[in-house]
Amino acid sequence: MSVFVTGATGFLGKHVVNECLEKNYSVIAAVRTQDKGDALIKQFNNPRLTTVAIGDLENLDAFEETFKVHGKDIKFVIHCASPAKWDIDSYEKDILIPARNGVLGILESIKKYAADSVERFVMTSSVMALIDFSKMQDSSVTFNEDSWNPTTWESCQTDPISAYAGSKKFAEQEAWKFYKENKDIVRFKLSTVIPSYIFGPQLFDEDVHEHLNTSNETVNQIIHATKLEDISPINALCCHIHDVAKSHVLAIEEENLADERLLVTSATFAAQDILNYLNADFPQLKGMIPVGSPDKAVENHPQGAVVENKKTRELLGFQFRTLKDCIDDTTIQVLKHEGRL
Ligand code: NAP
Repeated sequence: MSVFVTGATGFLGKHVVNECLEKNYSVIAAVRTQDKGDALIKQFNNPRLTTVAIGDLENLDAFEETFKVHGKDIKFVIHCASPAKWDIDSYEKDILIPARNGVLGILESIKKYAADSVERFVMTSSVMALIDFSKMQDSSVTFNEDSWNPTTWESCQTDPISAYAGSKKFAEQEAWKFYKENKDIVRFKLSTVIPSYIFGPQLFDEDVHEHLNTSNETVNQIIHATKLEDISPINALCCHIHDVAKSHVLAIEEENLADERLLVTSATFAAQDILNYLNADFPQLKGMIPVGSPDKAVENHPQGAVVENKKTRELLGFQFRTLKDCIDDTTIQVLKHEGRL
């Protein structure tokens, strides 16, 4: 019996595949093309990993063939694939439709070919599916595992980040709707993992390039900033890649995580917090990057709306890594790659 992992070529997907392999599962990894599958097989070099090429998520039948052929061998599904890039041409074509069709397509294929074999379905959502940007400055507001952003399909099409936030909400809501409507037909239990900005190392050092994946690029930009003007302002929430991957795999295993939205976030940060850790923990960056205003860090003084995940922390039952772990682990890998550590 196998775990089927989508988005397996991505930053998170590779860590999820790795976590599954380390726990002795056999993994079928969904990739966009066979070339990408071959590269993945080479990287992992593990006989318990196989790949299937599914093409583009926008095609509602992208998963048909896979479940027709392998459906009876798949016990767990972890659906990580979704567009997570901001350099796009069309909000609908490049973000909204693939995110929504991806989840609809895989769920319909399970229903058709693996209704009895798939026991757990875990999908990656995002904290952006639940926060309301317009209320983030309001300290009387709390977001938690029950929250949804108020965006509509039309209103989110103003900029890539809003479109992404919409895509994550619509995709996650499709999953819960399908689950409710098909409870008597499919056997699986649903859980969603809802991470904030995910920081941390790429699974393979060879995946470190000049530019990193969207979330880690925030840290990478600051590692290479020579003046404050090079740094884009940010005030957000983050978590560590190892905690996010672990949460996905626990969610296929643990009974108490079924039917839950798991909000995985451990810290609040601003660009200044990243600067503070870089300056304190990496002597080779001292004098190369700005110092900023160290007392303006927000980690221990969050302002505005509260994002609360006590329930998730209790359900998962392990301690999340800290902001320092997030920043330092990302930076160590970048500096090693550049021969500066
Ligand atoms: P990533 O590195 O860009 O990985 C995205 C994965 O999805 C890749 O395997 C990609 O395939 C696949 N994919 C994207 N669009 C596709 C399409 N149209 N058709 C087929 N495959 C497609 O991003 P990530 O950071 O690992 O994100 C993984 C998941 O975590 C996403 O659901 C994302 O929304 C969620 N998430 C990420 C963060 C974060 O901070 N990183 C935070 C919250 C939630 P290719 O490699 O072929 O492009």
